[in-house]
Amino acid sequence: MRTSLPALAAAAACSLLAPWGLTACPAAPPDPDDHHEHVGDPEDELDLAMPEQIARALSSDDMEGRDEGSAGGNAARAHLVEALQQCGVAPLFEGTYEQPITTGEGTNLLGVVEGQGNAERVLLISAHYDHLGTACGGVCNGALDNAAAVGAVVATACAIARAPLEKTVVVALWDAEEPPTFLTNAMGSQFFVAESAAGRTPVELDAIDVAIALDLVGGELWPGYRTHFVMGADETPALSRALDDVSVPETLPLARGGLHLIEEIPGSGRQPWSDYDAFRNRDVPTLFLSDGQNKRYHEASDDADALDFAKLADETLLLTRIVVAAAAVDEAFAWDEDGADLARDRSTVLAILDDALAPEGMVDALGLSTTSDGNLQGLRDAVSAEDESAPDRAVLEGAAIYVMCLAGSGYSESQCNMFF
Ligand SMILES: [Zn+2]
Repeated sequence: MRTSLPALAAAAACSLLAPWGLTACPAAPPDPDDHHEHVGDPEDELDLAMPEQIARALSSDDMEGRDEGSAGGNAARAHLVEALQQCGVAPLFEGTYEQPITTGEGTNLLGVVEGQGNAERVLLISAHYDHLGTACGGVCNGALDNAAAVGAVVATACAIARAPLEKTVVVALWDAEEPPTFLTNAMGSQFFVAESAAGRTPVELDAIDVAIALDLVGGELWPGYRTHFVMGADETPALSRALDDVSVPETLPLARGGLHLIEEIPGSGRQPWSDYDAFRNRDVPTLFLSDGQNKRYHEASDDADALDFAKLADETLLLTRIVVAAAAVDEAFAWDEDGADLARDRSTVLAILDDALAPEGMVDALGLSTTSDGNLQGLRDAVSAEDESAPDRAVLEGAAIYVMCLAGSGYSESQCNMFF
């Protein structure tokens, strides 16, 4: 964070300034362990009804699909500002949460909970709140994409506001993630990163230990498949080690993997999927939490009633635990492009293929053809035949992308099989 942070400048008490590394106030010599005693546990403060409440409000017809710059988008933003205010998350900017996107349309919302010890380090948690308006042939309510994730992120931020951590937590609710601005400089997260790099926000990119993005949570890759994907940690070894110790809710099946598994499209190269991209492009460690694109993705059927709210509550709890774990790490985080854990990736892809082929798995649930069934079986055999400790990454990527193709709404089954 920059020391020009308005909330900081306004803070009168030296005790508030001290954690930010400022020396203007005479202070007693710090006891290195002292701050630990003042840090509560956000998990105890978590309101697990909140993610559903927010997801339902944002994905109601009143919000008209939350297109950036629209009346529905403005209504969604007003709802979120009120939620942040009510639970004591401070605005990141002077007197406001709002960052108008001057390269396009729409407005990001950013709040901050100052750290209590290692406050110059920042953990950023984020989700985009915009959706497609009416571009899906009707009102696109975007419950899975991405009202549910906004609920998880706001609930986590609120819990942290009640029990601040060692590190500063910035909460970002991005606008303009969806096409046509996706991956352009008018995309909310890309705009924020560019502005931060230019010194025009209170957040220094170098101060961010990890930028966490949630997109498509509270969902299922195919009907009945409840696995939650945690991606990108392996490319940040210190974060990966911290995650190893995070306790996963018993009712949340979880799979970890490298981002390359979902991004490296055979023959066409890297395809980023969400708001983590802007940060990763500047070497800020990123973590992407998602349940993946399913048949409701970008369709008019993406409604709140199709969400798995028990899973969303578990995912919110997990997010909170991840942030708590990351806040306790003193070691510097660093993004390592080649840091993928291919051995883990192999077991993850193998497990997904096994689940897809199992009774009531993807083949059954989506009524896939014998061609697709055979292809999945072939990929399962190929991944299984790879060296456990040094598998060929292209084999893993090809298998993962094929599953994504079949599960999502972007391509028909026969198109997936043409690419295969
Ligand atoms: Zn999305």
